[in-house]
Amino acid sequence: MAFREIVDQDHAILLLREALRLGRISHAYLFVGPEGVGKKAVAISFAQALNCLNADGFDACGSCPSCKKIAGGSHPDVRVTAPQGESLKIDQIRALRQEAMYPPFEGRWKVYILEDAEKMTAEAANSLLKVLEEPPERVVWILLATSTVSLLPTIVSRCQMVRFTLLPTALIKRALVERFNLPEAQARFLAALAAGRIGQAITWALTKEALAERETMLDFLSRVESMDALERLLAAEELGKQKEKLSDLLDIAYLWYRDLLVWSQARDEDLLFNLDKKETIAKIAPSFSPRELQRRIVLIEEAKEALRRNANPRLVLETLLLRMMSPEEAIRPG
Ligand SMILES: [Zn+2]
Repeated sequence: MAFREIVDQDHAILLLREALRLGRISHAYLFVGPEGVGKKAVAISFAQALNCLNADGFDACGSCPSCKKIAGGSHPDVRVTAPQGESLKIDQIRALRQEAMYPPFEGRWKVYILEDAEKMTAEAANSLLKVLEEPPERVVWILLATSTVSLLPTIVSRCQMVRFTLLPTALIKRALVERFNLPEAQARFLAALAAGRIGQAITWALTKEALAERETMLDFLSRVESMDALERLLAAEELGKQKEKLSDLLDIAYLWYRDLLVWSQARDEDLLFNLDKKETIAKIAPSFSPRELQRRIVLIEEAKEALRRNANPRLVLETLLLRMMSPEEAIRPG
């Protein structure tokens, strides 16, 4: 992806383009910002611009053999390194350091992108520090991190810091419509679900994964209505297996009840995040009291908070689904 295709993060991209234009490439960059805001996409684009065969001095062409290899992860001079298990280990950094001693194989620059750089072990960080202190020619290190807190201050001080931020929902929605040709109604849902994470929104737009997840979750929510307590415990166990997706699935449920509440009170489709589901919303909203919807929204918030504090997903879901039963149902003898 060329810079011009990346949505905003304008200040970060301006800074990197200026470095390209002036030919003043720093030997190390630290991209800092929340998950899903596009740090890796920008790092890949920067690697492309540094090695593009048709570079105009500001951006990559995106279509020459070099740009394509970098996008496909097969360029010998551009490496993306992610933690092995829980941490970025010294062996991983050592291997890169050795490689960095040699000039680029076919490009102009070697680019080493380190994902989750805050997960470097102390040994790995010290090993990296050595190469940052005596940087080889034609090598650019790009560290991606969500914060600088757990990085060695000596590493932070040797990198040029580039900050990435969460983006407003309206801007993400516009980007999905204009640059990814998504229908307005779907874009509105994905932008709301992304909660500022543009990179995540784009991934969802390209894979349609979140839209499929929404179908699954809405089907689940409608089935839950008629379940008794025992069935809910089984359902909680089943849903709890979707560990990584759980937070997004709860967000989908949250946006859904929020839309039902908004519809029951305002009947204004401009306020709906699930605009493409407005007929379903109009149909089932009357079967809930506003107070009940409000109650469910609070319960989902509490479940999300518990997950953030690393509570057991299955227990969190059991509590949520049981409490979602209306008080009369819960005491109904089974
Ligand atoms: Zn190119």
